[in-house]
Formats: sequence, C-alpha cells, structure tokens
Amino acid sequence: MTSNNDESLNTSNLLYDKTVRCPVCDNEFKVRSVRTSSYRIDRKDSDFFIHYTRINPYFYDIWLCNSCGFAAMKSDFSSLRSSKKELILNTISKRWHPKDYPSVYNEKIAIERYKLSLINYTAINAESYKKAMNCLKIAWMYRLSGDIENENTYVKNALQGFNDAYYNEDFPMYGMDRFTVIYLIGELNRRIDNLDEALIWFGNVITSSMAQQKIKDLARTQRDLIKEIGQITPTENEENNTENKNTKKRFSFINPFKS
Ligand SMILES: [Zn+2]
Repeated sequence: MTSNNDESLNTSNLLYDKTVRCPVCDNEFKVRSVRTSSYRIDRKDSDFFIHYTRINPYFYDIWLCNSCGFAAMKSDFSSLRSSKKELILNTISKRWHPKDYPSVYNEKIAIERYKLSLINYTAINAESYKKAMNCLKIAWMYRLSGDIENENTYVKNALQGFNDAYYNEDFPMYGMDRFTVIYLIGELNRRIDNLDEALIWFGNVITSSMAQQKIKDLARTQRDLIKEIGQITPTENEENNTENKNTKKRFSFINPFKS
C-alpha cells in the first residue's frame, strides 16, 4: 500500500456520514462530516482562515442535496425559509443534474461545492454577509491551492459583500460582531492592496472604545504591517492622491466611531 492510500484511509476514519433532510424537497440524504475530535488547528491567517492538520473541515462545509440541487454552508442549510423554496425549485432544481463525489474531498471539490452553494445563495437573494462569507471561503480554498489570481478575485467579491452588509445588515454575522467585521473589511482591503482604505477601517477599530482588546490588537498589527512596508508615505497620502482624499471624506461621513 502506498503512503497516499494510507493517507486517504486515515482521512476516511476522521469522517462519518450524517443524515440530514433537505428543506427544499424533503429528501433525506447523507453528508460527509468531520468528527469534531479530528480537528487539529495548525495556525490562523489574519483574515480568520484556519489552517488545519490531519483533515480540513472547510472541505465538508457545504451540504448538497443531490435530488434538487439545493446547497448551502452547513450552518445555513436547515434554516432555509419556506418562502425561498420556490426560488430554488424554479431556478436550481429545474436545471440540476445529480453529481457524484468521492468519499474524501480536496480543494478542487470544495471549490466546486462552494460555488454551487454561492449560486443557491444568489438564487434566493440571500443576505450579503452570507454571500460574502461564501466568497471568502472560496478565496481560502484558492489560497490552499496556490492560485493567487482566483484568490484575489474572490477576496474582492467577499469585500464587496461585507461592505454592503456592514451598512445594511444586522450583527452578528456568523458570530462576528461589528468590530470584527470592520477589522475583516480592513484586512481584505489590505490583501488586495487598497492600503488607504485598510488603514481607515483598522483605525476605526483601534480608536473605538467599544471594540474588544483582542480585535484592536489584530488591527494594530495589520496597520503596523502596512506602515512598516512603507508603501504609503504622508506626502502621497495627504497631498498627491485625490482619490484617497475622497475615500477618506466618504468614510468619515458615515463613520460612527470617529472621535
Ligand atoms: Zn433537496
């Protein structure tokens, strides 16, 4: 037996089949699930992506009903409102062709499943924060694959969604409070080199009296990272860049945390 087979066999032991019921078509089916005792955290990235050893729970985050095509992140799957069922049946199910997946998933399969889920969120006109988180997770899967171009594309999509959610939707968002989301928007801006915008969002966390110390520390670290790189000088920032000035103006107008 090769080491690859060993690895696959071991991974398989960390998984089990969980029975769930589809909220759209009432079909009962099995989803691959990671045993909670199997999780081993290696490290966390600055945009909250968790690197795991042994097995990657993100690969199994999407539940997909093969009979009607409804797919969502597992935290949202069962809570689909009945008013949304018709939208799935009319837009997704009509065109759905069942898919076969192996018993152990990888980045490529995860990306495909996250994209199916995103199509579903779009079809039901889900909240922006849900679509944004879905996009962010796709970006993380591309990060794992070393595909920087696609990673950046989905970081940009996630950023657009979180921006919209920040102004229009309620907190918490997947357990993230307002300041965690502000930090995340800053960090996603930093990752796509919108450094001026990133500094503004980080600044909002750092100067707030309501943000938790932990998230303030994260914001400081990332702000210092931008400043250390020295890609922004006071001269460029204050004098030469009209676009930055406009951005600042726009944000200070809606900034509820400004001292
Ligand atoms: Zn179904």
